[in-house]
Amino acid sequence: MIDTRMNGIGMTSARTRDRLVERLRAEGIAHEGVLERIRNVPRHLFVDEALGSRAYENTALPIGYGQTISQPYIVALMTIALISDLPPGVTLQKVLEVGTGCGYQTAVLAPFVQHIYSVERIHPLLEKAKQHLRALGVNNASLRHTDGWHGWRSQAPFQGILCAAAPAEVPPELLEQLDDGGRLVIPVGGRGRQHLLRITRDGNEFRSRELSPVSFVPLVEGMES
Ligand code: SAH
Repeated sequence: MIDTRMNGIGMTSARTRDRLVERLRAEGIAHEGVLERIRNVPRHLFVDEALGSRAYENTALPIGYGQTISQPYIVALMTIALISDLPPGVTLQKVLEVGTGCGYQTAVLAPFVQHIYSVERIHPLLEKAKQHLRALGVNNASLRHTDGWHGWRSQAPFQGILCAAAPAEVPPELLEQLDDGGRLVIPVGGRGRQHLLRITRDGNEFRSRELSPVSFVPLVEGMES
């Protein structure tokens, strides 16, 4: 089925998308591949039609169930933190994403990794994400309705883990499910103000680097229906 909204604002308004990319560049995003991907992913398809005209603003927007689609700047920052400066010999074959939301971050990341395993605790959001990714032809992502606090044990280890919601402290199982040389990109801290960290595994040592102050929705333990 062809989504008629494909013909709407997003496909025709190249200028609106260019403006978003220029804004991200001005804010320091310098990875051309990621900027190009953000230009090409139709963000208006991921939000309610009523918000479509705001889809190319560099802001988070509500997607229902008290959750938001991440701000494009943050999606770019996290994607780059995950895919850049990999240690020699490490390739991102398997990436775990915690907090699929509407699937926008998944869509932006998809071309840069071999396979994404993405988990979401709110079932209707996961169903929406599946539809969005199918409509865009993203076919290297497996989505699952589960509590990401515990990762995705049967698919571990992961060379990369991207967590899109903030715990007060890093869940130990996410560290355990990291491959040697792998990295976890995660906001950590209390409600409303956290630090985005990149934690790299070297054997049983974990090195943490602070990337940026951020504000994410909390990582909630347990499931929704
Ligand atoms: N990056 C997403 C937005 C993520 S918002 C996008 O582009 O749309 C964070 C998401 O994390 C929310 O959908 C929330 O339901 C989910 N979440 C919070 N705690 C979780 C948990 N324990 N397991 C799985 N998902 C969780």
